[in-house]
Order: sequence, then C-alpha cells, then structure tokens
Amino acid sequence: MIANMTAPAAMPVEPMETLQLETLSPSRAGDFKTCPQLFKFRAIDRLPEPVTIHQARGTTAHLALQRLFDLPTTNRTPDTLFDLFRQAWTEIRGDEEFTDLFPSTDEERTWGLESLELLANYFAIEDPATFEPVARELDMTEEMNGIVIRGILDRMDRSPDGSLVITDYKTGKAPPEPYALPAFFALKIYALLIRNRLGETPSELRLLYLNGPTLYRLPVDDRQLDAMDNQLRALWAAIDRALATGKFPPRPGTLCNWCAYRDICPAWAEAQTDSV
Ligand code: SF4
Repeated sequence: MIANMTAPAAMPVEPMETLQLETLSPSRAGDFKTCPQLFKFRAIDRLPEPVTIHQARGTTAHLALQRLFDLPTTNRTPDTLFDLFRQAWTEIRGDEEFTDLFPSTDEERTWGLESLELLANYFAIEDPATFEPVARELDMTEEMNGIVIRGILDRMDRSPDGSLVITDYKTGKAPPEPYALPAFFALKIYALLIRNRLGETPSELRLLYLNGPTLYRLPVDDRQLDAMDNQLRALWAAIDRALATGKFPPRPGTLCNWCAYRDICPAWAEAQTDSV
C-alpha cells in the first residue's frame, strides 16, 4: 500500500500479500499512467533493465551540463562542456552497470564523438554564459497527498520577469510537437512539488532535447497545477487499488517496441501470437 493512503472501502479481491511502495518518482508515476504492468516490473518487482548506450550518454551528459554551471560564465563554452563530458565519462565508465557496455574501444569512441555532437547542439538552444540557474540537480523529496514523491529536478531558473522556469534535459529524440504534451507529465509533478515547497508557482516548463536540437516550452499556472493535483489524487488511488489487489493490467502500445520487459510480458506474447 502507499504510505498513509486509505484503501477503498470495497476491495474486489483480497491480495495474497500486500505490496508496498514507500516512495514514488515522477517517472514511475508516468509509467503507471502509460502501462500499469510496466510500472509493476519497474517499481514493485524492481526487475533490472539492461543499461543501454543511450542511458550512459544521458547520465554522462547530465553530469557535464550540471558541472558547466559550477564554472565562471566566461568558461561556459562548447570546448569546456566537451571536456566535462570526457571527465564525467572517465569517472563513471568504471561503474558496474557500465562495464561491458561497449564491445570495442572503437565503438566507445564513436559513441563519445556522437555524444559531443549532441552536446554542441546545446549551445544552439541557449547561452549558458548569460544566466545563473537558481538550482541544479535539486533533490525533490516531498510528501504529496499522502505519498512521498522522490525525484531530481535538472534545473530551475528565474526568467527575466522574475518567475520560475523548470528545465529538463533530454538526450533522446524529441517527439513530434503534436505528441509532446505527455512528455511534460513528470515536469508538471515537479512544478507542483515546487509550488508546495516554495509557495511559488513556476511560470514555464521546458523540455530541452539535445537531439535535434528541440526546445518545447509549456506555460503553467495555478489552474493547470490544481488540475494536475486532482489528476494525481486519482492516479494515487488507482495505484493504491492496484497494490491492494495485485492487479496491474498491461496496456500494450507503441512503447512495447522499446520495453525491456516485453519478453516476459504476457500482453506482448499475446500480441505476437495474434499477429501470426
Ligand atoms: S511490453 Fe508493453 S504491455 Fe508489456 S509491460 Fe512493456 S509496455 Fe507494458
């Protein structure tokens, strides 16, 4: 059960054992919305997912971008960012999860060069020498509607009009604009957490895709965040019901093509049989 949440009065099925969830990240909340079975694999069963070169790039690029703002504005150049990326990769490539990621040094080198090309795109979106972030890699552990949300917010700035802007870096490919709205789901949760913590409503959410590059911006206000708050209450209740009943229905869709668990997912197996 989710901590402090009351179970619904009528329970259709008695669980064989009560599943527990101490904290929830905005990303995992998004998983439940997309596919409850995926949420179970990740957040409840905690089944490991193979680390990909894309995740390694994301982790390393985030670290480099975070450190870029430790430096004086005059040093925030593409060459410095490349150096920070190389430095960060040297530090983390020995981690157990990244061992054996590259079959050869040539492939690692190609990956590194492609990563630097992506980082060069960053400067086409903004000039880091022209502003100082309010916060970077901000630990957002907050209780919200009876559940503890835990996540790390990439960056928060003050816009020229003094309002707060939340930015999330992405190294993957941006979705086409008409489909971009769902990608803001986690950022809206962060905006709510910021409003709860600081008593101040952020004015804008930004998804900064290095691949492209593409910048998606979403203005937010109290009305939208109130609606999100209600949506989350309903989501928490749905998660609580799933935990109580042990039922996490799979929701097959295009995401299955990238899902690390599809080989053990009954819905995927069924979809394959149907398509034969
Ligand atoms: S394969 Fe598809 S249906 Fe199964 S868990 Fe993954 S996303 Fe959900």
